[in-house]
Amino acid sequence: MLNENTRLAGSSLCDVLVIGGGPAGSTIAALLAERGRNVVLLEKATHPRFHIGESLLPLNLPLFERLGVREEIERIGMIKYGVEFVSPWHGDPVTLNFANAWDKAFPYAYQVRRSDFDHILFKNAVAKGATALEGHKVTGVTFHAGAGATVTAVDEAAQTRQFQTQFVVDASGRDTFLANQFGIKQRDKKHNSAALFGHFSGATRLAGKAEGHISIFWFDHGWFWFIPLSDGATSVGAVCWPYYLKSRKTEPAQFLLDTIALCPALTERLKGAQLISPVTATGNYSYTANRASGRNYLLLGDAFAFIDPVFSSGVFLAMNSAFIGADTVETCLDQPRQAARALKTFDAVLRRGPKAFSWFIYRATTPTLRDLFLRPSNFFRLEAAILSLLAGDIFRSTPLKLRLFVFKAVYYFNNLINLKQSLTAWKKRKHAIRNPETVALTGPEI
Ligand SMILES: Cc1cc2nc3c(=O)[nH]c(=O)nc-3n(C[C@H](O)[C@H](O)[C@H](O)COP(=O)(O)OP(=O)(O)OC[C@H]3O[C@@H](n4cnc5c(N)ncnc54)[C@H](O)[C@@H]3O)c2cc1C
Repeated sequence: MLNENTRLAGSSLCDVLVIGGGPAGSTIAALLAERGRNVVLLEKATHPRFHIGESLLPLNLPLFERLGVREEIERIGMIKYGVEFVSPWHGDPVTLNFANAWDKAFPYAYQVRRSDFDHILFKNAVAKGATALEGHKVTGVTFHAGAGATVTAVDEAAQTRQFQTQFVVDASGRDTFLANQFGIKQRDKKHNSAALFGHFSGATRLAGKAEGHISIFWFDHGWFWFIPLSDGATSVGAVCWPYYLKSRKTEPAQFLLDTIALCPALTERLKGAQLISPVTATGNYSYTANRASGRNYLLLGDAFAFIDPVFSSGVFLAMNSAFIGADTVETCLDQPRQAARALKTFDAVLRRGPKAFSWFIYRATTPTLRDLFLRPSNFFRLEAAILSLLAGDIFRSTPLKLRLFVFKAVYYFNNLINLKQSLTAWKKRKHAIRNPETVALTGPEI
């Protein structure tokens, strides 16, 4: 660790430089600063700023607790006890409640405005002692042959600043700063979709305790999210196959409204509701970097991998990677002989999350998986196991492996007995994902 004389106040030296003050970056900055590291956190925007990704998972809560922000998040959050699935090809909607998961200790999560949520995490990093600079966009990282790196950033006044650091953490989200610099970002060939979204006032919510449930509505070209927020607004987004978004001939806001009109059940919930925000879109969004670490750097959260948001896993995986990352950085700085092993473990753990969810993501729009979700059965505690996965309980020792294996076997068996339907769905999906072009409608990646 650097001593007091070399702290940032008078110079630009630090132990760890974190690129990006989203959930992953602010979390690792807080954890390392709390342990006495000299941490610089550079964020190109200024909080509070808009970000998509508003529905959190129950297993986020222990992370908030450990960061000391649980009460603050509780104040801005809408409690979500479960997930409602609505399908035009089935009967009544089905709700899965987190209280029925394997471990009953995590019965709910929150839905949040990301501008407020990310601001809380960023301020927490400052409170724990990180030097956090907003309006600082990292433009280059040079790794030195001996040790450490020089990070170059440009501030809002277009001034260039340089920072010498022992360790670099890339938490730049979908900007994937280091993965781009190294040319190691790989598009997920098995998945390709794009989203457009906005906020509405006056949407009809479910009643009572179910008011904060996230609802997933399937329709012909993909699926919608319906996320009630605590201030009365509701986030609605359409996640579609690229061919559908490319068919757009109107402004994004009109296109979102026209797309909603294709889903009668969602239209009903939005009767009389008003669109109260600009409509934004993001496209072509599943990827993984082919490594998550190197001798003196780590990639966290979306800077490493991004998966389809159908199971609301992004923020949890990002924050969880920061917790594992903090221990890994400590080992690299304090016990260089253990570094290679720690980095290897980090890499393996980071891959586990996207892998656990991806099997379900690739199949989420197939009739067979929809059937299984819409006719849940707790035979062999399969429903409990699926709920635990949906809660984010994938990094602990909860015994899900066998149940998830059986669930997958049931899925394949059902595919076999409905072979014609499954083959048609498989062909449709193959056709739908084949266009890799980005489908950006407005603005930058968010
Ligand atoms: C359409 C859509 C819907 C989603 N829905 C959900 C959901 O419901 N639930 C969920 O959990 N997740 C959801 N996600 C995923 C979620 O948004 C991300 O997984 C999560 O934000 C990742 O956190 P992060 O800290 O890795 O990256 P980010 O939150 O993106 O933070 C990265 C930060 O780095 C900054 N930055 C970037 N480049 C630089 C640079 N060069 N210099 C300095 N700063 C930089 C950015 O400004 C940003 O603040 C969704 C994503 C999309 C696209």
